[in-house]
Amino acid sequence: MLRWLKADLHVHTVLSPCAELEMGPRAIVAAAAANGIGLLGITDHNAWANVPAVAALAAREGIAVLPGMEVQTREEVHVLCFFPDLASLAVVGEEIRRHLPRIENRPEVFGDQVIVDAEENILGFENTLLLNSVELTLEEVQDITRRAGGLFIPAHVDRPAFSLLANLGVVPPALEPDALEISGRVTPEEVKSLFPALTGYSLITSSDAHRLSDLATPRATWFYVAAPTLAEVVLALAGLEGRKVVIVSSLENKPHDLPGRL
Ligand SMILES: [Zn+2]
Ligand SMILES: [Zn+2]
Repeated sequence: MLRWLKADLHVHTVLSPCAELEMGPRAIVAAAAANGIGLLGITDHNAWANVPAVAALAAREGIAVLPGMEVQTREEVHVLCFFPDLASLAVVGEEIRRHLPRIENRPEVFGDQVIVDAEENILGFENTLLLNSVELTLEEVQDITRRAGGLFIPAHVDRPAFSLLANLGVVPPALEPDALEISGRVTPEEVKSLFPALTGYSLITSSDAHRLSDLATPRATWFYVAAPTLAEVVLALAGLEGRKVVIVSSLENKPHDLPGRL
């Protein structure tokens, strides 16, 4: 049976140096539950080590986690990459890591990059600065992601920095993104009138949370799916088999366009 599921597919943890130290797995899961989120994407910059901890805790709350990363490509464009399971995330994560410049983090400047387990024990610190571009193009990151059965979604495309449209001005013909993420500042209608190049793409919006309060967003992405899995999200983004995706204002709270409103 298909049902509506509220998603936030772009959340950072304490592994991202720019995220607040309050972004531990427990607090993230609690904030997701408080905001009615059923599907959570954990997407640290060029890294994945905290996904298992969040996924384990979220499962206890009935929240599914899409294992992911926010990769910064050679073009300084941010893309969300999601994988069917933790094993495939780990494989691609290590490949991405091999292409990250070996520049040491300076925690006093950029912030700590903390790796934790589900009990929030500190397992260690990532020493390589994660806030750099990997030595891979957009197309290469897309190919690596696809080979692992993953989803490829350029992030916050309407933002003035680290975005597809700001850096390249277009969606390059070689890219076939599963969707494009727009920031929470604009409606899909506004963004399409500002950037006609986005017409025809499935859109999602996410919090890009770096602090807990960010998870309460003005708009949210809702998927109409049979289960909170990557395979179902793929169908919804493609509009296949009755699955769909909509961006809903939090004032409306839930999607209205189908029978059986939640
Ligand atoms: Zn970003
Ligand atoms: Zn982000």
